[in-house]
Amino acid sequence: GELFLNGRYLPPEQATVSAFDRGFLFGEGIYEVWLVVGRRLVDLDSHLSRLDRSLRETGIPVPPERAALPTILAEIITRNAITDGFIYLQITSGAGERNFTGEASTRPTLLILAQEKDALAAPALQSGIAVDLVPDIRWLRRDIKTIMLLPQVMAKKAAMAHGRQDAIFYDSTGVTEGASANVFIVTAQGDVVTRALSHELLPGCTRNRVMILAREAGLTVREETITVDALLAAPEVFLTSATSLVMPVVRIGDSTIGNGQRGATTQRLQQLYLNYIDSLPPI
Ligand code: PLP
Repeated sequence: GELFLNGRYLPPEQATVSAFDRGFLFGEGIYEVWLVVGRRLVDLDSHLSRLDRSLRETGIPVPPERAALPTILAEIITRNAITDGFIYLQITSGAGERNFTGEASTRPTLLILAQEKDALAAPALQSGIAVDLVPDIRWLRRDIKTIMLLPQVMAKKAAMAHGRQDAIFYDSTGVTEGASANVFIVTAQGDVVTRALSHELLPGCTRNRVMILAREAGLTVREETITVDALLAAPEVFLTSATSLVMPVVRIGDSTIGNGQRGATTQRLQQLYLNYIDSLPPI
């Protein structure tokens, strides 16, 4: 396979980045992940819009390839013969002398990788996953999709050490989001609830798509803070992300969610999301 680095398609072993890259030294970088299903690039435009916003909010320079990104993403899929998988794209503010503010003229580092993986085949989409609740120790610009992911790595590793598959963050108000996903509950009335957007969570592209699909299907969708008590008492809990799609959560800490199996509304939303993907044109 080949990856894309600063204007060139390269075999991975030939792709190198400066030790002075500001992503490496300062964590000054942003990223995106796209789901690819049957050569369909899911939610191409909303991920690109979020990428543009992350660049604007951080002041990381826009790479010269920005306008060509849809073409480059398609080319990466083709060169790696990806049918089902993911595209990872990262932009850092480039290399320079090691100081906090850098130089205005640095060429941003643009890296694009493709990974073959049949996300739809994950058994967890049917069986659901167990997660741990973890205090949200992150910074207060979680709306930016930054590569500064140490709290997420620590939370996921701690959860995995307990035999869980993932982590959900909470603060003094309630659930913020998953370590790499947004959190939804389904109430006893059948309403679909997720935290409102703010600086406290990432505006997930899958979150947005699932909300649209749920409303089109006649479900009531509310954006409200979910307390930890409400989370643990909810009949259904699920996560959304480009990598886990609509993922049922059947255990949180020592609590079983619902009857410990994927809920009916979660299953319905999974199907609506798959139907939506099927309706997209392959690249
Ligand atoms: N929240 C966090 C912290 C994430 O890292 C992610 C994805 O990686 C999401 C939410 C879900 O975003 P999306 O649906 O755009 O993949």
